[in-house]
Amino acid sequence: MSLPPPAGVIKLDQNEVPIPPPQHVVEAAAQALAVANWYQPAALYDEVRALYAEYAGVAPAHVWLFPGADDFFEYILHRARKVAVVSPTYFLFEDQARFHGVELLQTPLRGEEFKLDLAEFLSAAKRADAVYIDNPNNPTGQLLLRPKEVEEVLALGKPTVVDEAYFEFSGVTVAQLAEAWPNLAVVRTMSKAFLLAGMRVSPVIVGAGYRLHYNTVRFRVSLSSLAAARAALYNRGYVGEVVKIVKEGAAYLREELARLGIKAWPTYANFILVKGPPGLAAVLREYGVWVRDEEQRLGPGHVRITVGTPEINAQLVRTLKTVL
Ligand code: PMP
Repeated sequence: MSLPPPAGVIKLDQNEVPIPPPQHVVEAAAQALAVANWYQPAALYDEVRALYAEYAGVAPAHVWLFPGADDFFEYILHRARKVAVVSPTYFLFEDQARFHGVELLQTPLRGEEFKLDLAEFLSAAKRADAVYIDNPNNPTGQLLLRPKEVEEVLALGKPTVVDEAYFEFSGVTVAQLAEAWPNLAVVRTMSKAFLLAGMRVSPVIVGAGYRLHYNTVRFRVSLSSLAAARAALYNRGYVGEVVKIVKEGAAYLREELARLGIKAWPTYANFILVKGPPGLAAVLREYGVWVRDEEQRLGPGHVRITVGTPEINAQLVRTLKTVL
């Protein structure tokens, strides 16, 4: 069993918003567990599908729910031998692809601003069996493609996964393109702005080309997770508040980091990529602040930090002032 972080630790390494879910969501999950019979929740699955479809502005038939985005990645990876990705990209997708022996055709993000050269990406995508792009990109926080550019990728006809885990913060989506493009799959999550990370509810909006077998998919997400997702979607006013807190927090952190002489990139997500002195992540960890070390992939001093609440952000800045 993985344990929660020890008391006093500030956990900013996995891009979970460090705010507890609202009471109505917690109660819905608890009530689901209190029923006399823990039935298999196929009907509830369909209800949440329909609610998410309404939220995403697509027809319910396009929406499937998975217990984690990686569960959907399996579906792509066991059918592909070569997948076109950007580099760096979501480490879990890369890791899972390697585990499956899938070759990654990597297009590096270039320059100080981590730009994607679309022509270069298209040429790799042509040689691949499938395409994966996280938009915004993890770990850089940059938005790599606009919807028109995604259509150029889709026109190649390959199964194409656009990972929009951070959609609520970026405000940019291609979900509606799933009606027209059978090869598009848009990965979303309820782990970020909806505050349900541990519940593992990851909706995917797919075009007609993805023949997911209803009878195998509809039993994947647990009763309590579906109950939490249902309550969250029914009464989702809090999501906008979370996004506001995160955006203000990101602006505050970037300003404070600049003052401390630490480079902080702009972000379309709930995390910030920063470049400080070499070994920064390790030093912060000694002070009880967990951030994601990106030195191996991006070079000395690179760290990805999840944006927290105002109190947590201030504490992070105080710790940085101590260690620098
Ligand atoms: N995609 C990207 C790009 C992510 O950064 C993350 C979260 N780390 C996920 C997917 C994971 O989402 P989920 O919790 O729904 O598996």
